[in-house]
Amino acid sequence: MQRVFSGIQPTGVPQLGNYLGAIRNWVRLQDDHDCVFCLVDMHALTVFREPEQLRRDNLAQAACLIASGINPEKHVLYNQSAVSAHARLGWIFNCVVRLGWLNRMTQFKEKAGKDREQHSAGLFVYPALMAADIHTFHATRVPVGEDQKQHLEIANDIAAKFNHDYGVAFFPAIEALIPPSAARVMSLRDGTKKMSKSDPSAQSRIELTDTADDIALKIRKAKSDTEALPSESAGLEGRAEARNLVTIYAAMADQSADDVLGRFGGQGFGPFKSALAELLVEKLAPVADETRRLLEDRTHLEQILRQGAARANAIAEPIVTEAERLVGYLR
Ligand code: ATP
Ligand code: MG
Repeated sequence: MQRVFSGIQPTGVPQLGNYLGAIRNWVRLQDDHDCVFCLVDMHALTVFREPEQLRRDNLAQAACLIASGINPEKHVLYNQSAVSAHARLGWIFNCVVRLGWLNRMTQFKEKAGKDREQHSAGLFVYPALMAADIHTFHATRVPVGEDQKQHLEIANDIAAKFNHDYGVAFFPAIEALIPPSAARVMSLRDGTKKMSKSDPSAQSRIELTDTADDIALKIRKAKSDTEALPSESAGLEGRAEARNLVTIYAAMADQSADDVLGRFGGQGFGPFKSALAELLVEKLAPVADETRRLLEDRTHLEQILRQGAARANAIAEPIVTEAERLVGYLR
């Protein structure tokens, strides 16, 4: 059975883009893959976070994943920092990756903005740690949103260079599993920016724990335009916000954009937005309710993560130990 590795940063409550681009596919992959789901708290540290906030976000993230259908009994769910293999292989990969490769990473440029010099070195070398996250499990399939495509390419380049430099075929090639639709859900306030957990504006995203009122308000206020909806998807060209809302509806309803426009084409955004809010509430309310229920028992969640870490460690330790032997560490 092929192994899947997936990570999500505990940098806030999962948002709709995480759900459609990643989490929903993780749930589906559980049927026929051996899955490792990781709360990547070491990555979350690349931008300063209050320690108590990080702990809270970790637990909320775990609760949200379980509520979305991740099964921590059958698969592995744990915190990155609890398994030392990540840091150890991450360091080796820091020494394999080339600065020129890291300089080409668009996510660093987007996150760092203009004041590049003021950001942590961790944010810059993030892709090497992400490569280590995957390769320390010898995972071959990685379900991600489109924004992570470049990071998976560099993960393959790093592994290939390691294999070449040390003359072994140790790390396998990995395949990105990017969903055919809603692979890049955009901000509700700006159709050119991706929806993110860490966007300062809470209005820009739907969070999986939002109440029905929150969802209705955010969708009502979501940026759109003044034209009626087109009757087919070709008419969404150049209308980023309209395209985003139609894409969200289609993904949540498991329909094509053309089906959605067959129903709403020719109408203004009013009735469409009401139907979209209703659909989101119907699908997300059970996740929000279950997340809240799980968060009432913090001890139980911590226990799930501890057990997950022990199982993750059992898989990763022999692989990282062999990588350490290959590079020449003395034991
Ligand atoms: P942050 O703003 O802290 O980077 P994020 O919302 O980008 O948070 P991540 O934890 O970085 O979330 O990513 C978790 C997973 O969700 C990744 O697989 C990523 O590709 C996917 N993802 C993130 N945002 C979107 C989006 N807007 N559309 C589709 N997939 C997304
Ligand atoms: Mg991100």
